[in-house]
Amino acid sequence: MRILRFHKSHLEVWLDLIAETADLYVPKKAGEKAHRFERYEDFQEVDLSYTRTILPPKKFLFPPEETLFSRDAGSDSYHVPEIPDRDVVLFGVHPCDINGIRVLDVFFGSFDRPDYYYQRRRKKLRIVGHSCMPDENCFCQSMDAETAASGFDLFLNDMGDHYLVTLGTVEGDLLLGDRADTLPEATAEDMTELMAGIRRRREAFTLELDTSIVPQAVSLHQTDPVWEELGEKCLTCGCCSLGCPTCTCFNIRDTNTLGGSAKRSRTWDACLYRDFATVAGGYNFRPNRGRRVQHRYYHKQVGFAQSFGQPSCVGCGRCIKMCPTGIHFVEVFRALQENSLKQEMGRDA
Ligand code: SF4
Ligand code: SF4
Repeated sequence: MRILRFHKSHLEVWLDLIAETADLYVPKKAGEKAHRFERYEDFQEVDLSYTRTILPPKKFLFPPEETLFSRDAGSDSYHVPEIPDRDVVLFGVHPCDINGIRVLDVFFGSFDRPDYYYQRRRKKLRIVGHSCMPDENCFCQSMDAETAASGFDLFLNDMGDHYLVTLGTVEGDLLLGDRADTLPEATAEDMTELMAGIRRRREAFTLELDTSIVPQAVSLHQTDPVWEELGEKCLTCGCCSLGCPTCTCFNIRDTNTLGGSAKRSRTWDACLYRDFATVAGGYNFRPNRGRRVQHRYYHKQVGFAQSFGQPSCVGCGRCIKMCPTGIHFVEVFRALQENSLKQEMGRDA
């Protein structure tokens, strides 16, 4: 893997060049305290010091609403909408979100026929990662997602006045253009400095989840009162799922107009919504809120791991930050673990 030295003074020219041939998206401020990935227009708007964006990069691969196919009035045939021809470059993606995209790849690639709509966008997506520092809601380190060993085309480690750029793929090499041949290779001193930075970042985490007994605790405590308590607090707004980089629930909706046109679309859905588990005939498999909260936690840490060999949470902290009633992903698991411990002590007494 090649690692190159790139001086920050060249960043604007480089981004301008990328934007000439690709649809480039960068983190920008959205109000006082939030950030969003938006189309690159002006270098001054790029804010690479962000912690997390409101919506994760999944919106570029699995949009909140997407027409799958449609039919014009009077026509007998359906057509699938085209997507833009140019590559999409996501610039400044943090390791947790890169790992989130890897989870999406696993899920959408797992069907007998890998999801066509996801795959065609994925093929066009280029990812330029960027290092970051954790805040009080980040626990990616506990989920083994604080670094990205792969899943990016380029990764920029911020070293002050310059970056150490890791080349991940041939496409990343192409994104650098002529620079790939002219930029100096990182020296031994650069690498020592990089390792020291990684250590400093590791020490900066303040939130931790002991994942060693999470699956057992969640499985054991399916009827724990904690779920009813959380159900009382939960407003079923769905923010935690919609904002999660790895939640993939969707709904399929057919729309017919009086004029005769029709379309089928796919929209984001959330297992916290009241009607999510309602089936034909009106039966709801998860009618109460506590059961729905419990289902989400079970799926993120246990259910997904049983199917795909890894939990689907990458510890980005969005659900903690977004929940309007303060339901805290890590605190919930801590409560379950404490209950496990109490049960064990009760048995031993
Ligand atoms: S469950 Fe919460 S912390 Fe985990 S990936 Fe989803 S939004 Fe991030
Ligand atoms: S964000 Fe909080 S209140 Fe909203 S659905 Fe999720 S747990 Fe419930």
